Amino acid sequence: MAALTDLTLAEAAAGLAAGDFTSIELTDASLAAMEAGRALNAFITETPELARARAAESDARRGRGETRGPLDGVPVAIKDLFCTEGVLTTAGSHILDGFTPTYESTVSQNLRNAGAVMIGKTNLDEFAMGSSNATSYYGPVINPWRADDGKDRVPGGSSGGSASSVAARICFGATGTDTGGSIRQPGSFCGIVGMKPTYGRCSRWGIVAFASSLDQAGPMTRTVRDAALMLQGMAGHDPKDSTSTPVDLPDFAAALTGDIRGMKIGIPKEYRLDGMPEEIEALWRQGVEWLEAAGAETREVSLPHTKYALPTYYIIAPAEASSNLARYDGVRYGLRVPGDSLDEMYENTRGAGFGAEVRRRVLIGTYVLSAGYYDAYYIKAQRVRSLIARDFDRAFEEVDALLTPTAPSAAFALGEKMDDPIAMYLNDVFTVPSSLAGLPAISVPAGLSREGLPLGLQIITPAFDEERVFRVGEVLETASSFDTRLRGA
Ligand code: GLN
Repeated sequence: MAALTDLTLAEAAAGLAAGDFTSIELTDASLAAMEAGRALNAFITETPELARARAAESDARRGRGETRGPLDGVPVAIKDLFCTEGVLTTAGSHILDGFTPTYESTVSQNLRNAGAVMIGKTNLDEFAMGSSNATSYYGPVINPWRADDGKDRVPGGSSGGSASSVAARICFGATGTDTGGSIRQPGSFCGIVGMKPTYGRCSRWGIVAFASSLDQAGPMTRTVRDAALMLQGMAGHDPKDSTSTPVDLPDFAAALTGDIRGMKIGIPKEYRLDGMPEEIEALWRQGVEWLEAAGAETREVSLPHTKYALPTYYIIAPAEASSNLARYDGVRYGLRVPGDSLDEMYENTRGAGFGAEVRRRVLIGTYVLSAGYYDAYYIKAQRVRSLIARDFDRAFEEVDALLTPTAPSAAFALGEKMDDPIAMYLNDVFTVPSSLAGLPAISVPAGLSREGLPLGLQIITPAFDEERVFRVGEVLETASSFDTRLRGA
């Protein structure tokens, strides 16, 4: 028999339901894989005792004939940006040293209510700022995929620990958060499915804030079906988050009919960048062929403001971040570095507590929000954001969904792009526009690069049409028959 950790989330759920194994057995298999995978540095905190206790509760429930659905008893990992009651929560930052929340984020609470078993908190870029997981105070995460040259690759970011742990088959799913691509790009780099729901689908309550008008939680799993099952357990209206939208929660897995006949899929021509690697273009063309073969119609569409999306994002996200991060002052949370005066204590704490990328964003953010620059940068960026959202609205008058690459490259080498922030920001070129528009999108692993590393394709739909995201995503997954077993590892 294959290892229990080789099962998909859906298979693990079916095995638990059939009594083939217990949650304790499944959890022990995950905990052993977590230990064996420590060199990946995917976890900041491991919670084996808690996991065993929750697994035992799940088994006891099942023994009484009660179950809470497909996630009941299934080991998952939680990005260390979600506050977890009684469990250290770091956001990948030194400034949150020793911060142990007394409350649970709504999303992790929802998963807990669904019976999911948390095995640990995953590593991430500091405050979710980054595309490589190299800005974490807790050190970089390693991508479990091995390139032909044998050099370590980044897992992408900011949800790099979540992506790496799912790809390495340590857990059956992990939570991510996506502000400008942090679920989808690491999904693409690690050969797994990463799904960012519509802004407002999952509650942001209890998630350490980066850029509040963009942040959204979502599932990271090995299959599209698993992502649908996991989102079902995460999402839902929450009165504690005023931006959480009071809409019905459909049965996402029921949308996986495999039928996309007659669906119109748009190919945004502005995503065809100059100098884009041929392998990315080729995969994109392949995606078009797969969807056409499944009965969809494809056509070129235009999103004319696409080229302004990155500069717009890199004004709005730092502006919101600088305001959100003002609370880390050495008084209320975590680290305190003393000084002779209150101001000096603030300065010392923030100087020592924040890493270089976070300091850069705070500087950019306070600059674009300062009197005299506010209109020129921040207000203008907000206006452009509306134009970008309007581009999508117009495109969706003609088509039902959009197909694009997820990222302009495969996973890059550890250390690469670290001294060139602009090169790092460019990696978000395909994920940021839909984030600015608040739209749902998925990255599905679809092929391998020349060096043998995973590449993803992205599907974007209108707001609150996650069902279509999943349906088209699954068709791509079936057509590509991507093998999630780590090659060369
Ligand atoms: N890479 C982007 C950034 O650095 C997106 C991060 C995210 O989605 N959290 O801001």
